[in-house]
Amino acid sequence: MKILNPADGSLIRELADDDAQAVAAKYARARAAQPAWAAVPMEGRIAAIDTFKKIIEKKKNTLAETLTRETGKPVAQARNELNALAGRIDFFLQKTQAALAPETVLDDAPGKLAERITHEPLGVVANISAWNYPYFVGSNVFVPALLAGNAVLYKPSEFASLTGLAIGEMLHAAGVPADVFCVLTGAGATGAALVDQAVDGVFFTGSYATGARIAAACAPRMVKLQLELGGKDPSYVCEDADVKTAAESLADGAMYNAGQSCCSVERIYVHERSYDSFIAAFAATVKGFRAGDPMDEATYLGPLARSPQLATLERQVADAVAKGAKLLTGGKRVARPGNWFEATVLSNVDHRMELMREESFGPVIGIQKVAGDEEATRLMNDTEYGLTAGVYTPDEARARRILAQVRSGSVYWNCCDRVSPRLPWSGVGHSGVGVTLSTYGIQAFTRPKAWHLRAV
Ligand code: NAD
Repeated sequence: MKILNPADGSLIRELADDDAQAVAAKYARARAAQPAWAAVPMEGRIAAIDTFKKIIEKKKNTLAETLTRETGKPVAQARNELNALAGRIDFFLQKTQAALAPETVLDDAPGKLAERITHEPLGVVANISAWNYPYFVGSNVFVPALLAGNAVLYKPSEFASLTGLAIGEMLHAAGVPADVFCVLTGAGATGAALVDQAVDGVFFTGSYATGARIAAACAPRMVKLQLELGGKDPSYVCEDADVKTAAESLADGAMYNAGQSCCSVERIYVHERSYDSFIAAFAATVKGFRAGDPMDEATYLGPLARSPQLATLERQVADAVAKGAKLLTGGKRVARPGNWFEATVLSNVDHRMELMREESFGPVIGIQKVAGDEEATRLMNDTEYGLTAGVYTPDEARARRILAQVRSGSVYWNCCDRVSPRLPWSGVGHSGVGVTLSTYGIQAFTRPKAWHLRAV
């Protein structure tokens, strides 16, 4: 497997990938190691994850550079991810013990009958991950999974393999046994071989297409399955919103990490009374974003991590323009080695265009004029996806009214592209099933066991 630098196409390293036999051997070792890990008192598991957090803090700059080299994420944004990771890990360190504490739910007649719930680890779980925020999307799974007493077979994306291997080394250095957290390197075939093992849970982050394939493979096996998939996340700017503030917030939400966030803003609807001033402010903000070498601290826009996405973006732009969209800035590949695409803003768009229906996952955004709240709500819901959605207005009651009608896992008032460890992260429709983060995302890695206890 060749690890290429998306900024210039150069070879960073070659790695051997895990074939089906290697995957099966790692599974067998994880299965054998899991009971001893589950028997470690919770305090011991918490101490290991706390040490992991401290190691990351010490190595932050080197880790950020590795992430930038293999994914093209600007180094300042790579460091932001590592800085925010500490807060996520802290959430799990502080909340897991209480979230998994046994609970007595009936104790009416002492000595007669009691009812109790305990949270048992699932066992051995597969964690198949994406490359766009490998520390976030990985740790949302493996941190609570390990704290709950599971063994984890972690397959990082083939576009973030070096980061995945570094995570493994740091967890082992922190005291998690090698067979309790195993890294599997490779692409789709390695992931498919992992899904084929007799694991007790499959936790996947990635595209709808791959998620659907994994769901089909798991269906007859009755294993716990969680899928965190893509989005086509909309935001609506009301006529009473401050245009400049909304434009700056949404431009960042659409273009941060070159638009490669699952919760990137992918569609914008603007009330007709603010539309002209909004598109002007939005395009001006985007034109001010600095593109260039992702290793440069001042760079905001780097290359795309995956080269095939360039053709997807070209197709979406051409389709939109052919159907009447107006190109305000950008619109094409940048003529240099690597996976570069200009920050692109299209106005005068509508839902006949692929741009407004299919995930772009790149620095491309469409802005559509709407007559009012009813049309905006209808269009926000006109999608197979349902990850996040936002409304910009100073009127809280109006925002709540609109957001209550939107089908999505997360909703934002006057903000966007935001994830909090304290809140459940989930999707509706093609955006997935299951929950990570929050206390729901801790209990997700356990099986509640019901105890009916009669003393005599
Ligand atoms: P992807 O679906 O191409 O790959 C994801 C992972 O699945 C990789 O590790 C890949 O090797 C593996 N894989 C591929 N084929 C497989 C198979 N047949 N069986 C098992 N594993 C297989 O997605 P990606 O390009 O890595 O990530 C981008 C997508 O992820 C976008 O759609 C984005 O929106 C989504 N995403 C969602 C969230 C969320 O929290 N909902 C977070 C990050 C990314």
